[in-house]
Amino acid sequence: MGDKIDVKGLLKTKKEKLRKRVEKLKQKNIVPKLAVIMANNEDSSRIYVSKKRDLCAEMNIETVEYIYDESVTSEIIEKKIIELNNNKEVNGILIQLPLFKHLDERKLLEVVSPEKDVDGIHPLNVGRLLQGNTGIISCTPKGILTILESLNMKWEGKEAVIIGRSVIVGKPMASLLINKGMTVTVCNSKTTDLGKHTREADLLIVAAGHPNLVTKEMVKDGAVVIDVGINRIEGKIYGDVDTKNVIEKASYISTVPGGVGLSTVFSLIENLVEIAEAAIDIVEEIK
Ligand code: NAD
Repeated sequence: MGDKIDVKGLLKTKKEKLRKRVEKLKQKNIVPKLAVIMANNEDSSRIYVSKKRDLCAEMNIETVEYIYDESVTSEIIEKKIIELNNNKEVNGILIQLPLFKHLDERKLLEVVSPEKDVDGIHPLNVGRLLQGNTGIISCTPKGILTILESLNMKWEGKEAVIIGRSVIVGKPMASLLINKGMTVTVCNSKTTDLGKHTREADLLIVAAGHPNLVTKEMVKDGAVVIDVGINRIEGKIYGDVDTKNVIEKASYISTVPGGVGLSTVFSLIENLVEIAEAAIDIVEEIK
């Protein structure tokens, strides 16, 4: 029988440390500031934005939100992003996805300055990650890494299997684990025999958006299982893993809710603080 990973407990300590870093910035008259752009009608986005706003408030970080209705154009949002890029008081810019369908999502994400891309999804930051972790790292994979690092697990020579190849989870996660020396397989909806791959996994990360996709029979004894999926069924939230049964085989499992969602929001704020600290380092270097 495995353990449910106590992500909330882990983040409690991490938040304390981050709060101290924010205090240090304040002593240098810097108050980290996050700008959020939201242009969609999705209830889930409203919930995510409120969670980010709440954690910023808890950390004494300022937020400013720009909420648009369906009449907004790509040009209006582009102008706002450029204004925020040039605003020295704003450290990070977050575009809450998805955007209304008529908006040019890909282009707008590229307008965000890579130095203020707090979500770590600008092509330059994704490219830097491929080259070896030097840029801003995408929040969900970074949050998963925070969870995994707390387990003191061995990386090198171990097999990792990721289900899902999205730009915000699967692909950057694969880069991070490759950089750690793991042998990584990335599955997708066209994979013919999912179980064949998952049964080899020492580390299994599931980000497909299908409840109960991963069952006990698909998991290797002693595997670490990270459930990323979010499925809303009759007002309740479920992951992609049949946790109740999989926990009998896994050594550790991160559950939904109470797992990756929490560490993702934390990583966003961590990225913001890192951006603010980097700006100070540059000023001090020039002096
Ligand atoms: P997406 O919807 O962009 O892509 C899903 C991926 O899963 C695709 O690559 C697809 O090929 C693969 N897939 C779907 N069905 C599959 C199947 N039966 N077998 C194998 N692969 C399959 O994905 P996303 O944006 O990465 O989100 C994935 C899930 O993770 C969603 O439920 C989402 O809500 C959740 N999510 C959670 C967080 C968090 O912070 N907790 C963050 C991002 C995404």
